[in-house]
Amino acid sequence: MPTPATAVSWGVEGRYDTMPVHAAACMSFANLVGHRHVITLLARSLAQETLPPSLIFAGPSGVGKFTTAVALARAVNCLDPVRPGPGLFDASVSGGLAFDACGTCRSCVRIARALDRIGRGAEPAIDCLRVLAPDDRRSIKIDRVREVLAASGYRPFDGHRRVVVIDEAERLEIASQNALLKALEEPPPGTSFVLVTSQPDALLPTIRSRCPRMRFGPLSEREIADWLVERGACTADEARAAASLAGGSIAAALSHAAGDREDPRQVAEAFLARLARPGTPADRLDAAQVLVARPGGRSRKRPAGATRVDVTERLQATASLLRDLAVVSSRADQRWLANADLAPTLARLASAFDGHRVARAFRAVDRALYALDRNVSQKAVADWVAFEV
Ligand SMILES: [Zn+2]
Repeated sequence: MPTPATAVSWGVEGRYDTMPVHAAACMSFANLVGHRHVITLLARSLAQETLPPSLIFAGPSGVGKFTTAVALARAVNCLDPVRPGPGLFDASVSGGLAFDACGTCRSCVRIARALDRIGRGAEPAIDCLRVLAPDDRRSIKIDRVREVLAASGYRPFDGHRRVVVIDEAERLEIASQNALLKALEEPPPGTSFVLVTSQPDALLPTIRSRCPRMRFGPLSEREIADWLVERGACTADEARAAASLAGGSIAAALSHAAGDREDPRQVAEAFLARLARPGTPADRLDAAQVLVARPGGRSRKRPAGATRVDVTERLQATASLLRDLAVVSSRADQRWLANADLAPTLARLASAFDGHRVARAFRAVDRALYALDRNVSQKAVADWVAFEV
């Protein structure tokens, strides 16, 4: 029996199992975090019935692209959408948006339940929201695309319009992309496509040219921290610390808040503590070792050494601590600290890191992050930065 088109490989790279699906399930446009320009545009085109039949949602991982695509499917299929009229405008109802799902009608509840099932690794069993995601071999094969396309000629039996969300669309095999082309060019009447991707340039130019692209940026630390606190995921201090490490991604912030991953701040703290003592070049190289050592944390997938992502996170954490050291050394209000829970550590480090050294170190870490991004080896970057901080 072929894999149903709605099957989703959950747990791949830990992304879905860190995202609380109940949070996604209750999401209407008005409840989404950040991305106001994208959401305003989507709501307006729904209100004016000018939504393009196929779209690319492009942006970094874990910032809410998939959740927005689901919110779109919900709004499209809502039986009683919130659409403030000219005389009835009530910004408090819809967050000032021109169109949104009600969240309570039969269709909204059905999509929420489907997401809940997806979160438990089961089939969504719903026709108006189809999700295509990479299989265990990290690719989206042509058979599964064909199954979705075969159904797309008909209106969904349980909704107004079928929204096919292709998650991690950069994993579509070339044959799969070619199979999709015709549908994207002449969209079937009852189906819309949303290609969710962090690497839009990995898609064929012919695909890109047929789908308007909506750009999602990283979320701000404030948006992430507020979201964590509102959901009761952690305390305000923990939320700020997790947000400062998350690189704009809610999924990464949740992972840090849950302690599933190594806290890169501990590594950053050890790194700076070693450099706080006057030492020889050999001591500096020892400090560099801290940055590239095998990661800790409770993650099930424990790599043998630090990956580029690990070292990047550790350097981002170092930058976050240095920002806080600047706050401490300028005797500014402690409420500005991103890592308020580490105040005693910061106080200890402050004597070695005065304002001048902090500024120099911060520039060095920034350059190191830039070099990592340009594929310079982790070891070379770590050695260099240990001499510059
Ligand atoms: Zn509804």
